[in-house]
Amino acid sequence: MSGFVHDAPAQRVVFGLGAIARVADEAARLGVARALVIATPGSGARLGARVADLLGARAAGLHAEAVIHVPRAVAETGLAAARNAKADGLVAVGGGSAIGLAKIIARDLSLPILALPTTYSGSEATPIWGTSEGERKTTGRDVKVLPRVIVYDPELTLGLPPAVTAASAMNAIAHCVEGLWVPERTPVTMAYATEAMRRFGEHLPRAVADGSDRVARGECLVAAWLAGAVLMFGTGLHHKLAHVLGGFGLPHAETHAIILPHVARFNLAAAPEARARLATALGDDDPAGALERMLRGFPIPQRLRDVGFAEAKIADAAAQIAAQQLKEPRPASGADVRAILSAAF
Ligand code: NAD
Repeated sequence: MSGFVHDAPAQRVVFGLGAIARVADEAARLGVARALVIATPGSGARLGARVADLLGARAAGLHAEAVIHVPRAVAETGLAAARNAKADGLVAVGGGSAIGLAKIIARDLSLPILALPTTYSGSEATPIWGTSEGERKTTGRDVKVLPRVIVYDPELTLGLPPAVTAASAMNAIAHCVEGLWVPERTPVTMAYATEAMRRFGEHLPRAVADGSDRVARGECLVAAWLAGAVLMFGTGLHHKLAHVLGGFGLPHAETHAIILPHVARFNLAAAPEARARLATALGDDDPAGALERMLRGFPIPQRLRDVGFAEAKIADAAAQIAAQQLKEPRPASGADVRAILSAAF
C-alpha cells in the first residue's frame, strides 16, 4: 500500500434491537429541542409518526415528503417546513431518500441530523449530499450534512420488502467492492469493506429470503454502516458509471446491483489485493462470479434492459465515462465501458 490520508469526521453510532426507544435521549444529548422528523410518504410516514411520538415534546413536526434524489421542489418544500417548524434539528427516518432530504435541509440551514436508517444503502455514514433537477443529478460534500448520530434498530428493517432489501444492500456492496480498489483507500477502509462484505455474503441472502430474521437483519445493518463509511473515501468506475446511468433516469439501487458484477470482473483483473480480500470474504475464488450469482438469487431486475435502458444509449454513456479518463485500478476506455454495458444489458 502506498501513502494514504485517513480523515473521517466523528459520528456517534448507537446500535441494537429496540434502539428506536432511545431516540428522545439521543436528541436531547445532541441538544435538539425542536426536531423536524423527515420521512418518505406511505409506510415511511407511519414510521415517522411513531418516531415523532417517541420524541414527544422534542418533536416540532413530521415532514413525510421525501423523494428519491431530492428534486429541487422537494428540497424547497422541506426547507420551508423546517423554517416554519422553527426546527433546531432533523431526525431522518427511512432510507437514502429520507436521509438525502434531511441532508439538503442540514446543508442550507446548518441543522444537525440524527438518522434512523431503514435500508442498507449507507447514506447515513457519509458527508455526501445529492439533489436533482429533471434528469441532472448534482452531488457534493459538506461535513454539515453528515448525521451527528445514527441510531440503528434492526426492528425497523423487518418490513423492508425483499426487493428493496436486496437492491439497497447491493448498493452498499458496491461501496465495499469499489472501496477496495480506489486510490484513496486506507487500512481502515479496507478492513471495513472486507468485514462488511463478509457479513453481507453470509447474511444478505437470509435477510432477502426471510425478512423477519432478526440476526440476518442486524448483521446486514452493521454491514451497511461499514459500507457507508467506506463510500466517503472515494469512488471510481462503478459509482461514476451508476451516476451516468442515473442521468438516463434509471433506478438508483437496482442499477448499482446490475452493473456491479460486470465492473468488478473488469477492475478486479487489475486489483489483486481487492480480489483476494473479496475472495476470502465471500468464500469464493471468483468474486465477480459470486456477486453475479448473488444478484441472480435476488428478486430484482437483472439486466439494464429490464430497467428501461435503451441499447442505443450505450455509446453515449460509455463516451461520458471515457471523457473522465479513469485510470485506477486500470484505464477504462470507451470500448471497455461499451463492453461492460453490453454485458450488463
Ligand atoms: P429509498 O430511501 O429510496 O427507499 C426505497 C423504498 O423503500 C421507498 O419507497 C421507501 O419508502 C421504502 N422503505 C424504506 N425503508 C423501509 C422499511 N423499513 N419498510 C418498508 N419500506 C421501506 O432507498 P435507498 O436505496 O436507501 O436510497 C436511495 C437514495 O439514497 C438515492 O437518492 C441515492 O442517491 C441516495 N444515496 C445517497 C448516498 C450518500 O452517501 N449520499 C449513499 C447511498 C444512497
